[in-house]
Amino acid sequence: MSNSDSPKRKMAEPAAIIAHQLKNPISVLYCYLEVLMSEEIGKLNEKQKEYLNDALKNVELMSKMVKDILDISRIEEGEYKIKPQYIDLIKITDQIVKDFSYWAKASNCEIIFKKPKDIPMVYVDSTKIHYVIENLISNAIFYKTSGPGKIEITIEEKNKKILFSCKDNGIGILSKDFNKVFSKFYRSETAINLYPNGTGLGLYISKAIIQLSGGEIWFKNNKGEGMTFNFSLPIN
Ligand code: ATP
Ligand code: MG
Repeated sequence: MSNSDSPKRKMAEPAAIIAHQLKNPISVLYCYLEVLMSEEIGKLNEKQKEYLNDALKNVELMSKMVKDILDISRIEEGEYKIKPQYIDLIKITDQIVKDFSYWAKASNCEIIFKKPKDIPMVYVDSTKIHYVIENLISNAIFYKTSGPGKIEITIEEKNKKILFSCKDNGIGILSKDFNKVFSKFYRSETAINLYPNGTGLGLYISKAIIQLSGGEIWFKNNKGEGMTFNFSLPIN
């Protein structure tokens, strides 16, 4: 059987075609909603603003899902391209922590970013590393217990590598599932209840990004509670 006939490929292709076809209508929908939201063509009452806001959030979610499916098909075709540049990981992480701070607070979650004084720049794809960090921190917020959440982020330089770590005190992952964590569509029952809109693609894509960047990604369950996800990136 040739590579193009493999069952995996046959399953992935229609999904990728549909995702590709959905890209433009979703962008158009997003633009119209934004114009309405800006009140350029008419004043909105509070209820209308609330509904439009919900609609925008859902269109953003659709757009992320479509992008993830397209990324997966590129990963499986070996066509996933990294566009590296020198980036400051501290700056990127700091921005993501700031962007998530309102949501984290509303979710009763504290994010502590223990910033190192200085670390060398890393030569990686900024948008893609952004995706990895966003997914790790958002997972730590989504998959928390009902008690107060605590997320600790550290970045350090060790053995010519940069090590990123995101530790939480959340629901954790059962050891029987450890081998599935980086698989496509893996989601625990508890995770589905906490965040029904997740697709289980974030860590699969993150692993591909980190490996293509010359690094590694791994996790451990913390003694007592929660998970710690880590990744490394080469300094040169
Ligand atoms: P999305 O594709 O939108 O990111 P997702 O968050 O479900 O959806 P992943 O980020 O790939 O997908 O995570 C896969 C699954 O791994 C989660 O659904 C959850 O079951 C588990 N998981 C990931 N991170 C954590 C964490 N910090 N604590 C507990 N479970 C986690
Ligand atoms: Mg996720």
